[in-house]
Amino acid sequence: MIPAARPIIGDEERAAVDRVLASGALAQGTEVAAFEQEFGEQVVGGRHCVAVNSGTSGQHLGLLAAGVGPGDEVIVPSFTFAATANSVALTGATPVFADIEPQHFCLDPAAVEAAVTPRTKGVMPVHLYGHPADMTRLGAIAEQHGLQVYEDAAQAHAAAWDGAPVGSFGTFAMFSLYPTKNMTSGEGGMVSCEGDVERRVRLLRNQGMDKQYENELVGLNNRMTNIHAAIGRVQLTKLAGWTAQRQANAAFFDAHLEGVTTPPVAPQATHVYHQYTIRVEGDRDRFATALREEHGVGCGVYYPIPNHRLPSFALDLDLPETERAAREVLSIPVHPSLTQADLETIVTAVNACAKAGA
Ligand SMILES: *Cc1c(COP(=O)(O)O)cnc(C)c1O
Repeated sequence: MIPAARPIIGDEERAAVDRVLASGALAQGTEVAAFEQEFGEQVVGGRHCVAVNSGTSGQHLGLLAAGVGPGDEVIVPSFTFAATANSVALTGATPVFADIEPQHFCLDPAAVEAAVTPRTKGVMPVHLYGHPADMTRLGAIAEQHGLQVYEDAAQAHAAAWDGAPVGSFGTFAMFSLYPTKNMTSGEGGMVSCEGDVERRVRLLRNQGMDKQYENELVGLNNRMTNIHAAIGRVQLTKLAGWTAQRQANAAFFDAHLEGVTTPPVAPQATHVYHQYTIRVEGDRDRFATALREEHGVGCGVYYPIPNHRLPSFALDLDLPETERAAREVLSIPVHPSLTQADLETIVTAVNACAKAGA
């Protein structure tokens, strides 16, 4: 079976963990500080970064630090992982679900504009599958209505919009370092931000403390450990090569897949292919079962249930592109450890399933 995703952990990651274990300095310390510095320089154009214990924590703390709370609304897509809306709801604010545009599965700027109310505090685009949201139009809408922008860049390390890296646009941006993401620290997250927001994220992740036992605000323990940071630092050195391999794999699929809709890339976008997501207009679930069981090709549906219809939100909304995407999307393996033979197997399998369905 060709797996849908596979974290790549090598001797260098193991050696880095050993070095930290041998040092005895396991909790947040110098490895974390070095990881923050290196990630900021290499991924978000020198913007400051704060490491936390998960992407979700980063998103939660970023929102708290940006001043989001009860009475506020934050516009989010419904077609995303639940963490996006969860982090808004956990601040006491209300996530307001807007529809996506059908090409890149990201927030539709027109839908965002239509969802703005006097209570809207900000908008949180998700750079879904590694394709950046339209930051030009979303930025213009935000400016016109006095909104903040928060980026969910969980799937988009090293993606760019119009030449600028994702993570450099909003009040803050969150990157996830979960094992299936484009790079990992085991579990972890990175928040890019500056000024007061950066200071508040740093305080919030550590019980509101800067000086020990002089807690300035009510915070959490969302610290990253030196062990995780050491893994992340090694992975960061490999990110550029892995991203290029993902893009090369995607180019192969673009050139050879037939009978399915391949993912288009906006002219302003650098897509980093966290997922390579096709649309299957027939019976998508049968197509996925055939891929797995008849051809040994792992695949995934991200995400089968739009967030607004999850029991946790249970809202009756009319988001037609969100519903259609949830019915049609199928992500095939695009990760950098695929061999040329794997790529050919995947193409043959997808084309055969498409033909059988037609
Ligand atoms: C993975 C992910 C998150 C959450 O990140 P964790 O590190 O798993 O907490 C949030 N949003 C999106 C779109 C994700 O894919």
